[in-house]
Amino acid sequence: MIMSDRQSTLLPAVAQVFRKEYHSYFLRCLTENFLKEPTKHGICKEATKQIVKEMFYRVAHAPTVGEYNVALDEMRCYKAELATWVEENELGQWVASKLTKERWGRMNNNVIESWNNWMRHLRPMPVLWLVSGHLEKLEKKMDQHKMEMLKWKNGVEDRIEQKLADTYKKMGCIAAVECYNLMLTNSRRLVVKLGQQTCTCRQWQMRGLSCYHALAVIAKANL
Ligand SMILES: [Zn+2]
Repeated sequence: MIMSDRQSTLLPAVAQVFRKEYHSYFLRCLTENFLKEPTKHGICKEATKQIVKEMFYRVAHAPTVGEYNVALDEMRCYKAELATWVEENELGQWVASKLTKERWGRMNNNVIESWNNWMRHLRPMPVLWLVSGHLEKLEKKMDQHKMEMLKWKNGVEDRIEQKLADTYKKMGCIAAVECYNLMLTNSRRLVVKLGQQTCTCRQWQMRGLSCYHALAVIAKANL
């Protein structure tokens, strides 16, 4: 899978070099382009920037088509032209519910940015120094991680433990578990497949951490 900022010269180049390889777009770059739209339609950009941005993120991150439609309708009611912009911009490459290939909840290129930041001071050096500098940094980092791991209490680091604890708290909204067909207190129905690590809310597939519906199944079925 190729990820890019959809720069106009990259589009034909990626298609030519990588042919059928899936080419997806960073959400951050699309957000910058999208935020130029409101002023074109008479909306004062500064006053509404945050509202429009949050609306845009709800459309892009909605895990299911149903939630995407709700988010897009909300945007259409606010300003129809903004929703039209979304629909005209290759949804399969950046809208979570429409992706033609999985992106595991990753909507930006944070890994590449982290790598650039990691190598920033080494880049001007000759290649042997660059490699040995990278290895030295890596050794220090691994040692630091090892020391941090010794402090873990339950086999995962504090942030993951906190995320799981937060997820665990939300289980209360599930009214019944019937053969892993879930009915939520708001009457929404979902299907959890533990063996395949999936839930029809799609959060488990996208983020890699089980959603609270899956945790509810495990807890209520005493698994
Ligand atoms: Zn779920």
